[in-house]
Amino acid sequence: MRYKEKPMEVISVRNVGKSFGGIPVLRDISLSVSTGEVVSIIGSSGSGKSTLLRCICQLETIDSGAISICGEDMASTDSGSGLVSYADKATLKHIRSHIGLVFQNFNLFPHFSVLRNITEAQEVVLKLPHGQAVETARTLLAKMGLTEKENAYPCELSGGQQQRVSIARALALKPEVLCFDEPTSALDPELTGEILKVIKDLAAEDMTMVVVTHEMAFAKDISDRVIFMDDGIIVEQGSPDSVISHPTHERTRQFLTRFM
Ligand code: ADP
Ligand code: MG
Repeated sequence: MRYKEKPMEVISVRNVGKSFGGIPVLRDISLSVSTGEVVSIIGSSGSGKSTLLRCICQLETIDSGAISICGEDMASTDSGSGLVSYADKATLKHIRSHIGLVFQNFNLFPHFSVLRNITEAQEVVLKLPHGQAVETARTLLAKMGLTEKENAYPCELSGGQQQRVSIARALALKPEVLCFDEPTSALDPELTGEILKVIKDLAAEDMTMVVVTHEMAFAKDISDRVIFMDDGIIVEQGSPDSVISHPTHERTRQFLTRFM
């Protein structure tokens, strides 16, 4: 692993359970991600990958277990009553600021220019002055090869360009960890490579990342650790070579045969 400094546990998920309408979607999930680590999550559709990310990002609540982010307790379960309690609103907001999330469908503001898509949250959430927000946005747009597009609207961009804007938007808030939920699934195959390259470049810069992906070669290439989920459990995790090339569980093998 490529630690710049003393590693810190950025994400700690402990024995998390989550059901929808009585149907368990996450069963006793435990996961730890440290600074500088790149962790890929693979698994069939419906296995609970997005729900796990959404619980980490406060887009869903958990039914049991505990989650801490950067050492701050977000949610924990009282051992006596078995009830989950969440941190207070201000703490949750602060915890949320540690995490960037990039969605499959980009989720850009359609009525804002590219530049404003990246400056808006800096001004509203981080309360940064407009000039500074613009400067950061332009630096990130240059990094994403989109300098020429700052005045364009999302509908005028290709899917790959929109996804690069949404990555720039997430990075502008300087998260400790960036989570991607199938960042290339909505893209035409010829546009997938440009996004995978951006993520790979971020990995080379020691960005801590959790990437849900169906791109096996990519997961193998960039990950420090690969996690295989099936039916709400972590079936297997380890080095990319062990999980993708030499899986020990039958369920992992069956899943991977679809990508051979
Ligand atoms: P994945 O991302 O691995 O495809 P998801 O986490 O999206 O899996 O979904 C896991 C299961 O939870 C699926 O069966 C899905 O239908 C169900 N599910 C996800 N979100 C909801 C929700 N908001 N309400 C009800 N069921 C949901
Ligand atoms: Mg999903």
